[in-house]
Amino acid sequence: MEKRKIKYFSRQILIKRNGILTKLIGLEKDFHALQHNHPKDWAEVTNDAWERETITQKIDAEKKNLRILNSSLRKLIDGSYGVCACCGERIPEARLKALPFANLCIKCKIEEEHWAMQAG
Ligand SMILES: [Zn+2]
Repeated sequence: MEKRKIKYFSRQILIKRNGILTKLIGLEKDFHALQHNHPKDWAEVTNDAWERETITQKIDAEKKNLRILNSSLRKLIDGSYGVCACCGERIPEARLKALPFANLCIKCKIEEEHWAMQAG
């Protein structure tokens, strides 16, 4: 991949990464605030537990995104960026432009979703 393109994609990924980091800071603040909340009654206890669960799920999802972005950045550095992690084919640039952290080509992505749907 050309240097110019590597630069372009790393910038896209870094922008996304910053967005996720900001979100994570916000979520962790919310989580922290909940832990220091003293529920007055059972309804509030239940509600807090539910909110904690929701926040934890969001944090997990963002952390997963962060891991994907970090691995995309690593790939940009070692030159394996833009190659499908499943079949090894080149991922079309149009797809990378829409989804800079895509690690699967469209064909493999569809297959993955197909299996995920069957599994759950
Ligand atoms: Zn593939």
